[in-house]
Amino acid sequence: MKIAILGAGYGGMAAAWDLKKAGHDVVIYEAADYVGGLASGFKEPHWDWSVEKYYHHWFQSDDAMLGLIRELGLEDKVVFPRPLTVMLHKNKWHPFDSILNALLFPGLGFGLDKLRFGLVGLFLRLTKNWQALEKVTAHEWMTKYAGKKVYERMWEPLLVGKFASYYKDVNMAWLWARMHARTTRLGTFEGGFQKFADLFAEKLREQRVEIRLGVSIQSIEKNQAKLEARSGMGIESYDKVLVTTSPNQMAKLCPQLPESYLKGLLELKSMGAVVMTLSLKRPLSKEGYYWFNVPKGEGYPFLALVEHTNFVSKEHFGGDHIVYAGDYLELGHEYFSLSDEGLLEKFIPAFEKFNPEFQRDWIKKIWVHRTNYAQPVPLVGHSKNIPAIQTPIEGLYFASMSQVYPWDRGTNFAVEIGRRAAGLMK
Ligand SMILES: Cc1cc2nc3c(=O)[nH]c(=O)nc-3n(C[C@H](O)[C@H](O)[C@H](O)COP(=O)(O)OP(=O)(O)OC[C@H]3O[C@@H](n4cnc5c(N)ncnc54)[C@H](O)[C@@H]3O)c2cc1C
Repeated sequence: MKIAILGAGYGGMAAAWDLKKAGHDVVIYEAADYVGGLASGFKEPHWDWSVEKYYHHWFQSDDAMLGLIRELGLEDKVVFPRPLTVMLHKNKWHPFDSILNALLFPGLGFGLDKLRFGLVGLFLRLTKNWQALEKVTAHEWMTKYAGKKVYERMWEPLLVGKFASYYKDVNMAWLWARMHARTTRLGTFEGGFQKFADLFAEKLREQRVEIRLGVSIQSIEKNQAKLEARSGMGIESYDKVLVTTSPNQMAKLCPQLPESYLKGLLELKSMGAVVMTLSLKRPLSKEGYYWFNVPKGEGYPFLALVEHTNFVSKEHFGGDHIVYAGDYLELGHEYFSLSDEGLLEKFIPAFEKFNPEFQRDWIKKIWVHRTNYAQPVPLVGHSKNIPAIQTPIEGLYFASMSQVYPWDRGTNFAVEIGRRAAGLMK
């Protein structure tokens, strides 16, 4: 069969790998002039490694991702350093990167609240029954079982940070999935995620998968038994097509889809993200912390501060210290339209809170990346909202971040759903 895949992100490339192995002719169309999608990176001439546009790491439980890397023979390039994650309490950052450190965290005292926090965490780690948890919001469930104080101290800031005005609507299965499928050890690829994506693309090309970079598909139309992909280069016919874009883009690409499927796509909610990357002459965190969980309510202008060079060595970046400051935001938020310099003005006072010695002249360069589609929002009873991978148009398939539910989006689940889609298409 002749198959087209839209998108050379992790999902599209993983699907191409399996479809090619099954003996099909595969063409990947990628609108950008690079592969890797949301997990792509960029590089300065004096850096050996690339930096992800949006901070990325893997968990040790990322079986689909790590399994694919093994299959590609690249497992010796995966590293799992031990970076330090911290949480704020009374203006002081405390380690929060192991079960022991979570139990020692002073923000909950050492009485009943700590016990409830521990028991709820244990329950969520052990239970597999997410179907029961998706019937209730995380806000209601956590308030009831962990208690108001634990919820407000530990979980509410995370929900507000990730989902803004939707924070009371997100279902409990989302929190379950985070607790269930994540580890405290964090991994990356030698050279950065972009290096992995480039090596993967190289292996696909060796297998004669054609990757057309810089080609945006404008529409997919069913014409008798074939599917026609229209781009600036003209129209090409395929037996099957897999789309890996956002649900919104999918709806625009294929208006021939039945009303009910289109409605399902358009009703899915998601958050965008704005992430600033800075290269600094000096380290920001004196203590060598990697990930600062920043509580939104305390007046910080972003949700996460991540010092990448406390995860991987600054030697890979010519001695530059790399820091990210980012946030998940609803579309229309001013951060999407502010200039990069305007955003920096908002962020600078906050950097001083992480290191009072911070000076503006430590900044060598900044980059700002923005995406409309960063984080799906799972509402109560969400499983019935998930669009089928196999669409009602014969031969047309759709696999996106919004369908990996109950899991939270991530490269691991992009690989998993890409391969699942390929399995259906073979
Ligand atoms: C802020 C942030 C932090 C994250 N952190 C992590 C993390 O720590 N760990 C982790 O594993 N994951 C993380 N993720 C999630 C991860 O990046 C995604 O889950 C994953 O990259 C999605 O892959 P995908 O292939 O499904 O989609 P994408 O990567 O979005 O790929 C879709 C591709 O389709 C292309 N495309 C769109 N329209 C067209 C068209 N019309 N024609 C041709 N091509 C088109 C796009 O250019 C894109 O390359 C993070 C994401 C964000 C935003």
